Amino acid sequence: MFQAFLIKYGEIGVKGKNRYVFEDALVARMKRVLTPVDGTFKITKEQGRIYVEAEGAFDYEETVAALQRVFGIVGICPVVLADDKGFEALSQDVMHYMHRMYEGAEKTFKVHTRRANKNYPMTSPEVNEEIGGRILEEFPNLKVDVHDPEIMLHIELRSGHINIYSEVIPGPGGMPLGTNGRSMLLLSGGIDSPVAGYMVAKRGVYIDATYFHAPPYTSERAKEKVVDLARKIARYTGPIRLHVINFTDIQMYIYDHCPHDELTIIMRRYMMRIAQKLAEDTGCLALITGESIGQVASQTVPSLAATNDVCTLPVFRPLIAFDKEDIVTIAKKIDTYETSILPYEDCCTTFVAKHPVTKPQVERIRKSELLLSEKIEAMVREALSTEEVLEIS
Ligand code: ATP
Ligand code: MG
Repeated sequence: MFQAFLIKYGEIGVKGKNRYVFEDALVARMKRVLTPVDGTFKITKEQGRIYVEAEGAFDYEETVAALQRVFGIVGICPVVLADDKGFEALSQDVMHYMHRMYEGAEKTFKVHTRRANKNYPMTSPEVNEEIGGRILEEFPNLKVDVHDPEIMLHIELRSGHINIYSEVIPGPGGMPLGTNGRSMLLLSGGIDSPVAGYMVAKRGVYIDATYFHAPPYTSERAKEKVVDLARKIARYTGPIRLHVINFTDIQMYIYDHCPHDELTIIMRRYMMRIAQKLAEDTGCLALITGESIGQVASQTVPSLAATNDVCTLPVFRPLIAFDKEDIVTIAKKIDTYETSILPYEDCCTTFVAKHPVTKPQVERIRKSELLLSEKIEAMVREALSTEEVLEIS
């Protein structure tokens, strides 16, 4: 029945002169996600609206699912395109639509007509009234509510054709990808970091990622799990360049030279330093982590402060005040949860102290790091120069 979709977008609308930049980014992303979908689509921008029109047969479910992964889209309205063959034909098309959509439903409705074709022989209020009356006659279970209707039936009178729609399928919201630069996600195999990456990307930020592995303490399968997670979030965030850094030597060296209760913090400081270097070298303007206050010893406020001490780039921690349950809800929604809970070891779990500090003092941590000598710098350079880069899409 549907041949087209009207795309509703939210915050873009308020961007003034930059509006076209946002709309173009939105259209570009829509084209991209629709490429693998069965069907041929034409995407057009007119009068502050974006339409997706299918040329011929197409897979409705797949199309809607693809559009639901496009940040910036607030609503997806499946539209019936009717030829403009006079009011009687329109009325019949509307009745046909209402039968297909709301047969037997007990709901309130309102007709909302938009007269973009200024030559249409009736005014909008006339169409509202006439169509509304006919619906009431034909559907005894439907009632009019002009203030808060359950069904808002839109009739858009355009030159050449008429749009009929009432359903709004929710989109993800947020901002179109590419409207807010690029950031580097520290991606582990856990539940949190994929969600953190998704959330920042949802604000229009392109994502690259860094994963620290520690072979042979962490397996090839643990790395594959991270690749799988990157692939899952790439469905939303677009292609991700994944930097895989061998962290084994650095970890061992820290383990051999630093107080064990400070191990995790010191390792995390090196992860941040390395990710930051990669970010700077690749045009990323910020780091992203999945940290959340109090979740583990290395995420108490003093621990976060001690980790952050080495960062000069902004660090985005979108989950900072989230409870685990709320993070899990999003992980399930974006389909990363099942992968995240697969039981492969993480490079931090291999070297954890029995009693990590929960109130590290930055001064003491800095002092402990002095025990590492300049050899650590060579190890960092080595880790960076032996990185493996995977293009994930
Ligand atoms: P997650 O569920 O994201 O693994 P977590 O609760 O296990 O988080 P930590 O292991 O303390 O927490 O890690 C905190 C953050 O540090 C992660 O969210 C991630 O951004 C980053 N991180 C931790 N381990 C790695 C790793 N091996 N490679 C890349 N980033 C990591
Ligand atoms: Mg983890």
